[in-house]
Amino acid sequence: MQDKPYSSLDPTDWNELRAQGHRMLDDMFDHMAGLRQKPVWQPAPQEVRDAFREPLPRQPTPLAEVHARFLDEILPYGIGNAHPGFMGWVQGGGTAVGMLAEMLAAGLNANLGGRDQIPVEVERQVLHWVRELFGFPDEASGLFVTGSSMANMIAVLVARTGALGTGVRKTGLAASGRRLTAYASVAAHQCVSQAVDLCGLGTDALRLIPVDALGRMDTVALEAAIAHDRRQGFTPFIIVGSAGTVDIGAIDPLPALADIAAREGLWFHVDGAYGALAMLSPEIAPRLAGLERADSIAFDFHKWAQVQYDAGFILVRDGRLHHDSFASPAAYLARETRGMAANSPWLSDFGPDLSRGFRALKTWFAIQAYGSERLGEVISHGCRLAQDLKQRIESEPRLELLAPVGLNIVCFGYRCEEADEVNREIVIALQESGLVAPSTTIVNGRLAIRAALFNHRTRQQDIDTLVEAVLHRGQQNEAAPVRRRA
Ligand SMILES: *Cc1c(COP(=O)(O)O)cnc(C)c1O
Repeated sequence: MQDKPYSSLDPTDWNELRAQGHRMLDDMFDHMAGLRQKPVWQPAPQEVRDAFREPLPRQPTPLAEVHARFLDEILPYGIGNAHPGFMGWVQGGGTAVGMLAEMLAAGLNANLGGRDQIPVEVERQVLHWVRELFGFPDEASGLFVTGSSMANMIAVLVARTGALGTGVRKTGLAASGRRLTAYASVAAHQCVSQAVDLCGLGTDALRLIPVDALGRMDTVALEAAIAHDRRQGFTPFIIVGSAGTVDIGAIDPLPALADIAAREGLWFHVDGAYGALAMLSPEIAPRLAGLERADSIAFDFHKWAQVQYDAGFILVRDGRLHHDSFASPAAYLARETRGMAANSPWLSDFGPDLSRGFRALKTWFAIQAYGSERLGEVISHGCRLAQDLKQRIESEPRLELLAPVGLNIVCFGYRCEEADEVNREIVIALQESGLVAPSTTIVNGRLAIRAALFNHRTRQQDIDTLVEAVLHRGQQNEAAPVRRRA
């Protein structure tokens, strides 16, 4: 039988595709090199939005045409996290090396679920590096996942299996007759609560412990909550510490949490989504002491380490328990000692995904091409910029600092009447200006302008722009107050 000419999706003319591909690559280099000359963000016009409501295309469109649409309708309207002026939320900027590695990974189209292939060894290589960085033993297991939301969920699930035994995987939580309780601070990321929910425990099972003036979990209150729950017949099973809280960048007292977990026989997990990789910075690393005592750590290469989205990671001290929390036999996934089905355990034995992309490659490239010291320097630099911004705020009477600056996040406000409303308007106006883009959060009941300095491209001049723009907008508001919302 003869193949129909269109049965393969490969091009008929590779040279034509090659030329187009080179143009696409060059366009992205130009885009990256010229980021500073563009707005951080701009709202998309309605006609651009409308362009994404087309019916299913049945016939082919020339690649050059699709790419032209990308350049016109997609590229200019991202959220801007690659831009040096981006300071919102917690986002990494990405790198040129990461982009190239993504292209290579896509070219390979490897499925990292398992089997005997070197791409799996690349992921294991990153695990080795991570163990080394965090002082974890050789038995520790790890896995690339989408992000820390998934990593935190895996940690809660493994801790649950540790607390109740692997039988819980078959009989379920209810059959255990135990009511498990988890502990995190009120400043913990929302995904911790979601992880507890996704594991079937219900969010009421998460006890939110108060924090001190620096935003760190109050360990006296933690111990009291654990004791109270035990008296009430609950089964405490996990403490989730934060290494870098999302609002202000506080680091929980990790050694004290490790002590309490050890004394109480609880799992000690650390949500180090962005903060854990500050281990790469010799200046910041000492402040993460205690991390090496965690039972598990969730963190993201896609934040401070600037690896392209997505590249989350879960590290678990007890690799066997991690494996036994997920591995399931299936005839069509049988393992062999030779051939392609060898190389057990497979990475899919450590998480819920069977098909998995090659997130490890861009991370492996970035760590090699930049070296851990240079990535650490990016982290130190963000913290120095934050300290500088803090000083600017403290020396400017019209501004006030609203939270301590522990790492690279600065929460502040313009002093005035109805400050919450004015500061919210300032942030929106700054975002719309395209010059510099902080976000907002609530600190001690007050709305704060929140500048998170994660981007490796951000410089002193961007801090200056931020301060000047906030003062300018605040002043404008005094001359002509913003419309009050009802
Ligand atoms: C970003 C973040 C998360 C969630 O991680 P994702 O990678 O977005 O899923 C959890 N905790 C903290 C402290 C974070 O900063």
